[in-house]
Amino acid sequence: MEQGSYNPFVTAQKQFDHVADMIGLDEATRVLLRQPAREYHFTIPVKMDDGSTKVFNGYRIQHNDARGPAKGGIRFHPQETIDTIRALSMWMTWKCAVVDIPLGGGKGGVICDPHNLSKGEQEKLCRGYIRQLGKNIGPDLDVPAPDMMTNGQHMLWMMDEFEAMHGGHYPGTITGKPVGMGGSLGRTEATGYGVVYTLREALKALGIDIASTTASLQGFGNVAEYCARLYVGLGGKLIAVSSWDNHDKKAYTFRRQSGIDVEQMASIKDSFGTINKDKAIEFGYEVLDGSDWIAQDVDILLPCALENQITPEAFTRISNKVRVICEGANGPTTPDADELIKARGIYLIPDFLCNAGGVTCSYFEQVQCNMNYFWTKEEVLEKLDKKMTSAYWAVHKLAEDKGLYMRDAAYVIAINRVAEAVKLRGWV
Ligand code: GLU
Repeated sequence: MEQGSYNPFVTAQKQFDHVADMIGLDEATRVLLRQPAREYHFTIPVKMDDGSTKVFNGYRIQHNDARGPAKGGIRFHPQETIDTIRALSMWMTWKCAVVDIPLGGGKGGVICDPHNLSKGEQEKLCRGYIRQLGKNIGPDLDVPAPDMMTNGQHMLWMMDEFEAMHGGHYPGTITGKPVGMGGSLGRTEATGYGVVYTLREALKALGIDIASTTASLQGFGNVAEYCARLYVGLGGKLIAVSSWDNHDKKAYTFRRQSGIDVEQMASIKDSFGTINKDKAIEFGYEVLDGSDWIAQDVDILLPCALENQITPEAFTRISNKVRVICEGANGPTTPDADELIKARGIYLIPDFLCNAGGVTCSYFEQVQCNMNYFWTKEEVLEKLDKKMTSAYWAVHKLAEDKGLYMRDAAYVIAINRVAEAVKLRGWV
């Protein structure tokens, strides 16, 4: 979402331009890669339960498909903007490239608030989305997945509509499907676990024992929850979690200095990630302002919710104790805040590397669908760990060898891979 004067697409282009200059990217490739290749904007009329018809605005943006079909989630959010989707589609291209999976970048969205839609209305919206877009996506073209406020059930309705349109079974059309319906075991955990795989390796690189660390987390949706579970599982102490309260329409930070019990926290959240405040107080958590997660005296900050959360203003609240920022969300840091992170020497694990576990598991889901043979959860997570770990070390090593900021190092690897594909195909 745009926030204040920050537009995520401007951020994504600034980040790209900076590294394109650094690596001397030729003009044609630069023009091609600093904007999406294709955009679909459409309306989705839905017959609501009360008999009225509501028209929603839907989008799908394919940034680049030189390395494989476009890939990326579909978001349902009331404040969705076209520029947010543009930025996210671009970040998907870099994400797939940095972990070296044969997919491009895309993203979709619908301006809506699923909290206010019945199950039946959500199903109609999903099916309507595919009726408008079904000719422009597919296993060989563009493969959607869940994202903010969308889930496996939404994906399955979409796949069903796609299959009805095309007359056949095409499970590789969409990922993040429920297990047993073409979904992969481990997909639910994948993004959050992937965040912690990169964090675990970063702490090794920095010579810090994870069991001696404390962390503060923004978000308690799927990514944040599984990130919290694995971080605590590996011995880390999570002391604060901030999450959106859909009843009060504001965020709160829940803090317990002795450590958050993630299982207990998860048991009092609803399906959209709202934590039951009264129960949290009963369980001994302090309730602070939503923005206070960033001001905790911890070693690690885990922004795992939204774009544009670490601005220069928010940066002034970051404790001098913080050693690592691990970006589970897409685009949580603004370019001007990047300069401050660099200057203070905080180690950054950049978003499109850090949160690439979800799309990596989506790729595994496609592979399993193609074989029509499904791996065990252990096999999936082991493969995921390997992919994330090797991508992390490639970026860390480049950053160290060339004295680069971690975000820039990740961009150098990703842009070079995509630029190479574009050249080999003869597009430039
Ligand atoms: N929505 C996730 C992301 O931003 C996953 C995308 C996918 O699996 O295609 O990375």
